[in-house]
Amino acid sequence: MSSQPIRDTFLPYGRQKIDDKDIQAVIDVLTSDYVTTGPEVVHFEQAVADYVGAKYAVAFSNGTAALHGACFAAGIGKGDEVITSPLTFVASANCVLYQQGVPIFADIDPQTYNIDPVQIEKHITKRTTAIIPVDFTGQPAELEQICEIARRHNLVVIEDAAHALGAVYRGERVGSISDMTMFSFHPVKHITSGEGGIITTNSEDYYQKLIQFRSHGITRSREQLENDHGPWYYEMQFLGFNYRMSDIQAALGRSQLNKLDEFISKRKQIIELYNQSFRDITGVQIPVQSSNTVSSWHLYILRIDSTKFDRREIFNAFLDNNIGVNVHYIPVYFQPYYQQLGYEKGLCPVAEEVYQTIITLPLFPSMAEKDVQDVITAVHHILN
Ligand SMILES: *Cc1c(COP(=O)(O)O)cnc(C)c1O
Repeated sequence: MSSQPIRDTFLPYGRQKIDDKDIQAVIDVLTSDYVTTGPEVVHFEQAVADYVGAKYAVAFSNGTAALHGACFAAGIGKGDEVITSPLTFVASANCVLYQQGVPIFADIDPQTYNIDPVQIEKHITKRTTAIIPVDFTGQPAELEQICEIARRHNLVVIEDAAHALGAVYRGERVGSISDMTMFSFHPVKHITSGEGGIITTNSEDYYQKLIQFRSHGITRSREQLENDHGPWYYEMQFLGFNYRMSDIQAALGRSQLNKLDEFISKRKQIIELYNQSFRDITGVQIPVQSSNTVSSWHLYILRIDSTKFDRREIFNAFLDNNIGVNVHYIPVYFQPYYQQLGYEKGLCPVAEEVYQTIITLPLFPSMAEKDVQDVITAVHHILN
């Protein structure tokens, strides 16, 4: 390889896009009466609920806290088994551990990389209480089959849609299909609030529990109080957390939401160029889309033939050319903490095989045409 890198400056795999309107929205909050949870959080929750077509939304300090809240609201407790995907960020399983539950990893589909409903069914026991499907890379999981399995076994579906704001499953936007759906507003996701997350749901019962869980388990609502000492009185009725989102975050999130559709269509334009350019490379598999879904394209992942390429060498070659590639993800149970809990390698052979062969390319709405071309040039240069 030539010593001259394809780019002089580093291109990250993901990046937020913040404009003057976003900045003004935050400034407006900073000079208002509220900086912590106030009217902006309520507006943001309403805007997200409207966008996804859900009755309720509860914002949290981050997506992981939101998942924890959903596990609490679903009633997951000590020893309860919750089935999730191994090919995800650790938060999808950690939220079960926070509630003393037991994450159970069901293997994935080798084409879409989403959790395989047949594998879910195989792992159901008397202790199973919930399923946490992950809409991997922005492509919704097989939600119809998953919700049907859940109905038959009386399980709660908590969808980890951290990648999938704006994605569509069988004509419906993700966010009102599962019992509860989580979105993240971390800066690499579709829209950002700095840190932030949200649960959307159509259930008033879950909504009430989430609101209370987010703020120490405290309520001031007259109808819910067991006693009433006077107008100052509130009650902590269970052990909750301080997982509140601030108005500063919510104002940024709401301003960003106005641009979501534009962000997604920019992502799709880049995907088209990538797919066209990489389709015919031998030993390289471009992403496979299920006909039931319209992905919102959080990540673009190439699968490379491990008999032809050495992934470590390939990965380093991209970095040497200042192309910020990544690997999504290391199977969760490979993590030392999970190994110490007794999870063994070999649990999910498909996920483990996929992990060996994937590489994530840069994809974000503020990529310039030249950035996209640099990635394409690098792929052809490195994967030939
Ligand atoms: C980002 C992410 C989360 C956690 O969201 P945070 O807002 O970073 O806490 C959970 N699951 C998946 C799949 C994610 O990508």
